[in-house]
Amino acid sequence: MSFNNIITFKVIAQEKPNVIRNCRHCKRSTEYFCSDKFRVNANQKMIDIWLIYKCLHCESTWNYPILSRVHVNRIDPILHQKFMNNDQETIWYYAFQINKLRKLCDAVKKDIQYELIKEKSNLISSEMTVRICCKYDFGLRIDKLLAEILNISRSKVNTMAKEKMFLLNPNVPISDKVIDNLQVTVKGNWHEYVSPSLF
Ligand SMILES: [Zn+2]
Repeated sequence: MSFNNIITFKVIAQEKPNVIRNCRHCKRSTEYFCSDKFRVNANQKMIDIWLIYKCLHCESTWNYPILSRVHVNRIDPILHQKFMNNDQETIWYYAFQINKLRKLCDAVKKDIQYELIKEKSNLISSEMTVRICCKYDFGLRIDKLLAEILNISRSKVNTMAKEKMFLLNPNVPISDKVIDNLQVTVKGNWHEYVSPSLF
């Protein structure tokens, strides 16, 4: 009888992406890190909010605009409080808006450290499904992550992909980046490729 195991892996980002932009003080393009602080400005009833970045070398600041001249009544009071308190989860949310940051900077450094946490372990079956939870998008590729999860080389992953041993849900190419809740079912004689001790 064939049955399917689901094993969930969580990708936990360990740091926020740095950005590359010109520093007036260093007089060259440098790396900026997120300071973990918002700057909130209130002018009458109009609010401006930035997330502060600092040059790695001279600590010059760059303010990433989050809200510009928004009437205080139009901001959710809970969110407003989070900006005032430098709420970490809110900071991480904005620090991972990579597409927006890329437009305002020269580049965003996406090769950040992450931890892979396995949530459920089970034994060998004819099929195995890996579910990936990834809260923040930082351009991590599916084939790279699969190689890490299955503890095999990237070329082995590509060989298995050519042999149609992976079924992706949603059905995206294996060279795409990881999306939250992606499920990869490994079919066929996958235990010949993957060490069962891993699970
Ligand atoms: Zn600098």
